[in-house]
Amino acid sequence: MNSETVLEEYLYKRSQQKKWTSPVNYKERLFVLTNARLTYYEGRSEKKNKKGSVDITKVKCVEVVKNGTNEVPCQNKYAFQVVYDTNTLYIFAPTSESRDQWVKCMKEGIKNNNYILPKYHPRLWSDGVYQCCRQTEKLAPGCEAYQLFAGIASKPLPPTPDAKKRPPPPLPPEQNQVDKEDKEDKVIAMFDFHPVEPHDLRLTIGEEYVVLEKKDVHWWKARNKYGQEGYIPSNYVTEKKLDNLDQYEWYSRNMNRSKAEQLLKMEDKEGGFIVRNSSQAGLYTVSLYTKYAGEGSSPIRHYHIKETQGFPKQCYLAEKHVFNSIPDMIEYHKHNAAGLVTRLRNPVCPRNRTAPTTAGFSYDKWEINPSELTFMKELGSGLFGVVRLGKWRAQYKVAIKAIREGAMSEEDFIDEAKVMMKLTHPKLVQLYGVCTESRPIYIVTEFMEYGCLLNYLRQRQGQFNADILLSMCQDVCDGMNYLEQNNFIHRDLASRNCLVNDLGVVKVSDFGMTRYVLDNQYTSSCGAKFPVKWSPPEVFNYSKFSSKSDVWSFGVLIWEVFTEGKMPFETYSNVEVVEMVTRGERLYRPRLATNRIYTIMMACWHEKPEGRPKFYDLLLGIGQILEGEL
Ligand code: ADP
Repeated sequence: MNSETVLEEYLYKRSQQKKWTSPVNYKERLFVLTNARLTYYEGRSEKKNKKGSVDITKVKCVEVVKNGTNEVPCQNKYAFQVVYDTNTLYIFAPTSESRDQWVKCMKEGIKNNNYILPKYHPRLWSDGVYQCCRQTEKLAPGCEAYQLFAGIASKPLPPTPDAKKRPPPPLPPEQNQVDKEDKEDKVIAMFDFHPVEPHDLRLTIGEEYVVLEKKDVHWWKARNKYGQEGYIPSNYVTEKKLDNLDQYEWYSRNMNRSKAEQLLKMEDKEGGFIVRNSSQAGLYTVSLYTKYAGEGSSPIRHYHIKETQGFPKQCYLAEKHVFNSIPDMIEYHKHNAAGLVTRLRNPVCPRNRTAPTTAGFSYDKWEINPSELTFMKELGSGLFGVVRLGKWRAQYKVAIKAIREGAMSEEDFIDEAKVMMKLTHPKLVQLYGVCTESRPIYIVTEFMEYGCLLNYLRQRQGQFNADILLSMCQDVCDGMNYLEQNNFIHRDLASRNCLVNDLGVVKVSDFGMTRYVLDNQYTSSCGAKFPVKWSPPEVFNYSKFSSKSDVWSFGVLIWEVFTEGKMPFETYSNVEVVEMVTRGERLYRPRLATNRIYTIMMACWHEKPEGRPKFYDLLLGIGQILEGEL
């Protein structure tokens, strides 16, 4: 067995192509799991023939399939699923212990992946439907919250040298005990949450809670240490587990190098530090600030957390000091510089300032009572009407859009609003709720202090360096990646439809909203207001929208950002732009954009949608440029 191999066993695999269940669609394969890939082979190990392989970094979900046992004509009865890209592998193990072992090891392998499904399908896709929710669209978003580490004991068992000759051993009794304890789903609050309805439960940062129910992905029912129960926003808590970094104040998962530098400089504390994800999947970086770096050297150092070879892995910053976990290592370097420019004195935490948005103000609440809104200054006006700053219940700042009569197909929007409220991501402008019982209807969203990105850029020309401009694009790409993963198409991505908050974070707004515009000049591709300059050929020719048409618009948005707010194809009319783009002409490289950044834009403007990258790949590419790795 290869030294890298984590597990190896003969399992059954269901064919991914065939629509109907039949015994011939279940083939025995030798499955080999390494840290990098899950590969399956036909035939015996001496003469094996590789049939397929999945890159572990692409995997979005690994989970046991519920009730799989009775539904399949396969001799192995213990099913699990591996979801990656747009595919799902169904794999059947001979015993439940073997299945648990595979699921556990694979979960461990994917835990740092960039994208883990928020929801998954707990039962099989068979006979053209998901057996759990009866949805007939194979790419339909999942119907149950996915908990990467629910019911999984802390560490996978190390592989034994002769693992392939026999099925993996059952878990020892004490490990089962850990499983049971883990089933009591304990979480730690990462932010304070103030209840707004009687059924909500207050959260206090750092306190522990037990989760009782997860029927709604965004609002879980929980109990505090005093036995009080109520609903909490699921994105405010994190699993209580030693190696879950989210519970530590020094960890900022999504912070890039330039933002970390900005924040450390702003805090200006000796030994200020942040632990963040490196642009290389699965790796972490410690960014550390010192006031005494010496003349001419940077006050900030970035240290990769390195891992030892072998299994189980250990980590270190300085070679002589090796630890079992990152928290242990940080604790040590809080007291000992041991080779670092200074010791880790002051954790720097952006979370202190901003709690994330919630999907609505409370559990099951999307209709807002207009008498609870206070209207303040006008922020701007758009296609649908005037937008004002306001407060909800005299406390929470919000933006309120009053919909002008005749501007929107209101019924359709109201139906969709419930779905849109569930789209919750740090880089999307959150929809909090709607007032639909009187006219005009109001749309209540997260308030963004600096208004739309286009004006923000134009008003601050010359003030941003290329790194900051690229981090703005990264924010947008992050939000768009989330929409793409949720099969939600924006249809009108442009800098005018992104907003900027007081911390300079850019968020995507108005997603999907063009579907409810009643103005023909805007909706018809030959209308004067149609965003032709942001549209790919398949949109201006056939109105064929997709995530890939959003990718084209994203390329134009990068161009807008790097020209600090110029109009694309400045002097040309829409008709001329259609001709130019059809001939293969593209926007020029802005002066501030390096060749690498221009290559990304050009990739977004591939003539054919299938030739364009996914947001997921764009996000990786941008992250690597920002880390200076390409
Ligand atoms: P519409 O969707 O009707 O076209 P927009 O969403 O473009 O309207 O909003 C019009 C303007 O109002 C924006 O350009 C921006 O300046 C301001 N605005 C809209 N939403 C917000 C918000 N959430 N926070 C701050 N300003 C906003």
